[in-house]
Amino acid sequence: MRLDRFLSNRPHLSRKTARQLLQDGRVRLDGRLTCDPHAAVDAFSSIEIQQPDGDWQCLQQGVPRCYLMLNKPAGCVSATRDPQHPTVLDWIDAPWKDQLHLPGRLDFNTTGLLLLTNDGHWSRHLSLPDSELPKTYRVTTRDPISPETAAVFQQGVYFAYENLTTRPAELQLLASHQALLTIHEGRYHQVKRMFAAVGNKVVSLHRQSIGAVTLDASLQPGQWRMLTAAEITLLD
Ligand code: URA
Repeated sequence: MRLDRFLSNRPHLSRKTARQLLQDGRVRLDGRLTCDPHAAVDAFSSIEIQQPDGDWQCLQQGVPRCYLMLNKPAGCVSATRDPQHPTVLDWIDAPWKDQLHLPGRLDFNTTGLLLLTNDGHWSRHLSLPDSELPKTYRVTTRDPISPETAAVFQQGVYFAYENLTTRPAELQLLASHQALLTIHEGRYHQVKRMFAAVGNKVVSLHRQSIGAVTLDASLQPGQWRMLTAAEITLLD
């Protein structure tokens, strides 16, 4: 919403008064004076106006933005609600947890790094299937990983359903049945489908990192913490 609209929606402020307050430099948005009637405001904005006696009155405090990482355990759904299964929100013991969105999902039994936020913009930006942020998974397979797999994944795997070829992905072998795979998009069941395309099967999947943000090794499955300011910047 625009700032002038926010102000004039207040019961005691007419449109004329709202415009005058802005013109007189008596409006603070997020702690800074602004005269811009078009400035965008949302639930996160703090908005104050200056009273005739010089005191500042807070019209809206602004909800603090929060960004967190969860070490998702197996056996829960990456959703905020589910009629049948536990969800990742069951692991968040905070009163504001119902405001959280999930920028990206992990399958029911996939473990590891999951981001949550109350910032819808950030969430939408990160969850675009075409977002090029690399995501690295530790993959354990049913059969030995054949030597050609890395080259096939580097070339890209054709997904008939979407009629697309996956972006080049990097595979680093750790053992005969284990590898790190870094993909640069987020298609439905992408890692499992890539391994299925080479005749193998994923038996366990763990996300280690998204972009330059790595799952905090001190978080046990089901534990979470706030992202640091540096981590948030790394994901912008
Ligand atoms: N790819 C998958 O197949 N599953 C996940 O949970 C994440 C990526």
